[in-house]
Amino acid sequence: AAMREEVIQKEKTVCTYCGVGCSFDVWTKGREILKVEPSAESPANGISTCIKGKFGWDYVNSEERLQKPLIRRGDHFEEVEWDEAIAHVADRMTEIKEEKGADHLAFISSSKATNEESYVMQKLARQVIGTNNVDNCSRYCQAPATKGLFRTVGYGGDSGSIDDIAASKLVLTIGSNTAESHPVLASRIKRSQKLFGQKLFVFDLRKHEMAKRADRFYQPKTGTDLVWLSAVAKYILDQGWEDKSFLEEWVNDFDAYRESLEPFTMAYASELTGIPEQELKDVAKEIAHSESVAICWAMGVTQHMLGSDTSTAISNLLLITGNYGKPGTGAYPLRGHNNVQGCSDFGSMPNFFPGYEATSDDDVRARYEKAWDATIPKEPGMDNHEMIEAIHNDELSMMYVMGEDTGVVDSNINYVTAAFEKLDLFIVQDLFLTKTAEYADVVLPASPSLEKEGTFTNTERRIQRLYQSFEPLKGTKPDWQIIQLIAKELGRDWNYQHPSEIMHEAAGLAPLFAGVHYDRLEGYKSLQWPVAEDGSDQPLLFTEGFPFEDKKAKLYPLTYELMYDTDEEYDLHVNNGRLLEHFHEGNMTYKSEGIRRKTPNAFVEVSQELAKERGIEEGAEVKLISESGEATGTVTVTDRVRGNELFLPLNDNGKSAINYLTDNRVDKDTDTPAYKEIAVKMKVLKKK
Ligand code: SF4
Repeated sequence: AAMREEVIQKEKTVCTYCGVGCSFDVWTKGREILKVEPSAESPANGISTCIKGKFGWDYVNSEERLQKPLIRRGDHFEEVEWDEAIAHVADRMTEIKEEKGADHLAFISSSKATNEESYVMQKLARQVIGTNNVDNCSRYCQAPATKGLFRTVGYGGDSGSIDDIAASKLVLTIGSNTAESHPVLASRIKRSQKLFGQKLFVFDLRKHEMAKRADRFYQPKTGTDLVWLSAVAKYILDQGWEDKSFLEEWVNDFDAYRESLEPFTMAYASELTGIPEQELKDVAKEIAHSESVAICWAMGVTQHMLGSDTSTAISNLLLITGNYGKPGTGAYPLRGHNNVQGCSDFGSMPNFFPGYEATSDDDVRARYEKAWDATIPKEPGMDNHEMIEAIHNDELSMMYVMGEDTGVVDSNINYVTAAFEKLDLFIVQDLFLTKTAEYADVVLPASPSLEKEGTFTNTERRIQRLYQSFEPLKGTKPDWQIIQLIAKELGRDWNYQHPSEIMHEAAGLAPLFAGVHYDRLEGYKSLQWPVAEDGSDQPLLFTEGFPFEDKKAKLYPLTYELMYDTDEEYDLHVNNGRLLEHFHEGNMTYKSEGIRRKTPNAFVEVSQELAKERGIEEGAEVKLISESGEATGTVTVTDRVRGNELFLPLNDNGKSAINYLTDNRVDKDTDTPAYKEIAVKMKVLKKK
């Protein structure tokens, strides 16, 4: 170690701040980060990075890092040694399991942790404890997109690569603030627009940077994207502009789908969305006649009560226009966390083993039961949302949360934290004493990406290796090692020496990853799943059909009902989203001095019209009140929002978190909270 302090080292890593998956070399000396330097070989980003990837690493050496396990004694925490913490956790888990049954225990994986760590977390739940109660934070964001794609095209991932988005003739972004949430990807779009005449259509409530750059920008009313998407599809069919040969060869269920479109006339869509009929017709024409179309979407679509259905409508539209399986085409749900894709891919889901094979499938279950010498329940476990409900109903007694600040990021956090307080055992594994950790009975100090090896999977299904820049900070351990220690204490000695052995096991069990091997991922090499045993991967999906028995995709009929609106009392709609400089709740980026200085305070964006109407100015203090709770903020008057729309950043360091306002309403198909459908009233605390 002493030697190591002296020398300058360079190791490749993958950014932890968004799903673009930029990779770069980290130059270090001892524990000091000298620079972050992308390489021309970086598959997702080439030589680009954004402010977070380049400068957002101070948290690794933050003095606030936890360095000892903590056990709650009454109203305070006591520092203990690892042995004691692990023994305590295992004993309490055993007691609860014996007393109340395996399904009283639940596990939440981290979409910031590695694929291997997601794999061992679900293995702990399924093999060691015997429950399918395991989930991850994609429940809060992209589960509806995955659902919509599963229903129609069979794989819940981006259909092509970032290169395809860049090569597309027409890109639509829906409910995605791409320039701030996926900066390097946004740069690729901007470049294609400038150099290759790519067209960009943006659909969003908020006039953000991409909206200002767009060839066309539309602001459909909240929760009505499904309507214009379906109306555009109907209009294309009515005009006979559909891709007939593609439909003939590759698509099932056309008649039922066509019938379901009957109500979606242009007049109806225009009335609900507020977009003039002629403009929607123009959009239909452009989509139908463009050589290739790629549609990107994010939480502005998914975090609604109809999030899954709206994602499905996107996929339906791509199917009827033949925009799958060809370069420059496809569906691109833009993943938020660095490894939100991989965390689900590797089995931290209540209904799926790794590689999206159902727990209810007897053959699949038998394969895992044999490999793991265990009995695994057939029925799906609880998802995150159901876990919180179950705690309130005394049906769940233990929760183990790895690397998620659930008490800040879940919706309606007053309700969520009340649930934490009811648990018999609450284990939180993290780098810091987060808000969530404050409710824990046991806190286990973990190591971040720069202190461990493993793989992440980015938004384009690309699996990439990260290498260790530093030893784990004294007293901390990588998540996979902590989970392995708990499993061992509970009687299962996995004996993994390195994450590559975990990946080897996963590849042997899950056909989707059959050919994934660390040798094939060395340095800047990467693989985009599905990966066949010979190591061949698929940057572009569906070139030879869809993963259903007859290789044909399915059009999925939809209906629409207005689920959400403001009313007389709660008369304003709150939208929320990310800021360029911060990552989610900000636990990591707020530790970075330079970034913190740039965006110090929680703010509320108010439209010029509303500011005038309420007599408030820039700098006013307001309180927002929803049916669930309250939040305060400083007003900034802007043309980014209009009318009765407000915008709150979701990264505000927990001070006036948006999730005091959100409630228990969820997407009907996935239980993803409808974060984007909140009505509030506003009280002015100080006019200026
Ligand atoms: Fe990291 Fe995303 Fe920025 Fe790339 S675009 S450097 S992955 S935050």
